[in-house]
Amino acid sequence: MSDELMDLYQELILDHSKRPRNKRKLNEANREADGHNPLCGDHVTIYLKLDGDTVADASFEGGGCAISTASASLMTEVLRGKSLEEAKEIFKNFHDLITGEPRESQESPGLGKLEVFSGVCRYPARVKCATLAWHTMNAALERSDAPVKTEE
Ligand code: ZN
Repeated sequence: MSDELMDLYQELILDHSKRPRNKRKLNEANREADGHNPLCGDHVTIYLKLDGDTVADASFEGGGCAISTASASLMTEVLRGKSLEEAKEIFKNFHDLITGEPRESQESPGLGKLEVFSGVCRYPARVKCATLAWHTMNAALERSDAPVKTEE
């Protein structure tokens, strides 16, 4: 990846961490889950409003470091209007992107601006920050009542 593109990506992450989108309690939510990343101190609550099998709305509260906040912010934007199946597919692709080898040319399908996190896989300590919101969203979809921890 060119330095120019990396700068652009960092700018988007910075923008979302400073001015997070959809950071509020969603009163109409019919799914929610809490997530905690003890390694960094990130806390997030994810709210989802499901309409049939479509994510009609998504929001979050909490946060932590820039990466975890930006990830939650971008995730809520991306999820809106997606089917449950699509949401799980994007989660899987995102997880592969974050934990996989750096890919120079191969684009992961359907990730769009989530590609901004592709550099995170070079920083293992940041992987849990970037995936916390997603694991928590997945727990909300699975209706798991157990609090999410990124520590395994
Ligand atoms: Zn963090």
